[in-house]
Amino acid sequence: MFGDKIEYLLDIFSTHNCKVCHRPVVEDIGQRYLCSVCYEAALHSIYSSSKPDSELEIYFATDYMGWARRMMRDYKYRKRSLSRFWSKLLSDYISREWSEILSKQQVYIASVPLHPHKLKTRGYDQAELLAKGLRRFEYLPCLLERVRDTASLYTYKPAERESMLSDAFTLNPAYHHDPSFRRSVLILIDDITTTGATFKTCARLIRERLGFKAVVAIAAAGRNLD
Ligand SMILES: [Zn+2]
Repeated sequence: MFGDKIEYLLDIFSTHNCKVCHRPVVEDIGQRYLCSVCYEAALHSIYSSSKPDSELEIYFATDYMGWARRMMRDYKYRKRSLSRFWSKLLSDYISREWSEILSKQQVYIASVPLHPHKLKTRGYDQAELLAKGLRRFEYLPCLLERVRDTASLYTYKPAERESMLSDAFTLNPAYHHDPSFRRSVLILIDDITTTGATFKTCARLIRERLGFKAVVAIAAAGRNLD
């Protein structure tokens, strides 16, 4: 945690160039990684991998390509301080796209968990930091537990992904069916979505056991591979 603060201070006092257009960043809008023009463009490239017949609506704040792919890899594997940038992007995306709908109902938020082994090696859970950064919603800590680790899923066929993910997650037994859930929306957060399979598995478990009115999945970055 202390190292994270030093890393953040170094970031503040360093001059950054925009990760997209390479011009020096003078504003703080993108937390010093993107200039205001590229930040706006990143948020405008809004995609959704949901289809009308899909069992779950899956959205992402920006496309998982180019700068976003590099910055997400940095965040995932070594640079915890980037959670501030990704949280802001996610929060701005949700405010723009969802504010009106979400302001009318009780909204809870939860994240797709890392396997404890990975958490131990990495020292932080990247999706959890993103969810906690969205302070306007009530966060449900450790709603899900990852009991089996899985390889990257995007090279597998949909049926193979399903079987790889079966029994990979459980619902934390501390959570029970709460009458207020039936009137509420749950936003499930992950850092990246490519196949949507992880989101679908987690959402199924939450719906079956806790009975939310709706579950919506939102990732910071994603691609349409359905
Ligand atoms: Zn730029």
